[in-house]
Amino acid sequence: EFINIANLFNYVLDRFDMIIANDDKPEKYYTVKRVIPDFQIWVDVDTSKLTQVLDNIMNNAIKYSPDGGVITARLEDHQTEVVLSITDQGLGIPNKDVTQIFDRFFRVDKARSRAQGGTGLGLAISKEIIERFGGRVWVESTEGRGSTFFVALPYEPYNEIDDDWDDGDWDEER
Ligand code: ATP
Ligand code: MG
Repeated sequence: EFINIANLFNYVLDRFDMIIANDDKPEKYYTVKRVIPDFQIWVDVDTSKLTQVLDNIMNNAIKYSPDGGVITARLEDHQTEVVLSITDQGLGIPNKDVTQIFDRFFRVDKARSRAQGGTGLGLAISKEIIERFGGRVWVESTEGRGSTFFVALPYEPYNEIDDDWDDGDWDEER
């Protein structure tokens, strides 16, 4: 189905804002900062699957960050694809582990991760989902400073030439 990507991203983030707003004593405080232009870009994805991916990246950003961290959510138009990114101020990922982060069951520091809960499947599933939509996922991270997870999704740019098909120009030339 075609969905408005800015709307979906805002909807996902609204839920994280509501969780923290409605919790008197949250395990962890966080603030979500949005840099989301009012794009009218339509992407052909499954809403619930993309929500699942963004939920996991957001949950990770919270889980692997200290209390009170700022999470920045960005949306950028790169012409043939939209790029969603989620930046945290958390633990970061050691260089040696960055290539494995999307592998099934891979977790940085097994003991610590086990204490945090989870299975280590979130990012592997996310990668599968995004690639099925023809997109890409990757991470840039500095250990001890934080991480940015990127999701790029292809879209058909609106093209004025397509509009001309109906207005007779093409017929006249024949
Ligand atoms: P699950 O998502 O299945 O509940 P999980 O969060 O451990 O468990 P993934 O989401 O696949 O699994 O993440 C894999 C590992 O990558 C995590 O265990 C953690 O070590 C590391 N990781 C993921 N996101 C971040 C992040 N934002 N900052 C630091 N480390 C991260
Ligand atoms: Mg996870």
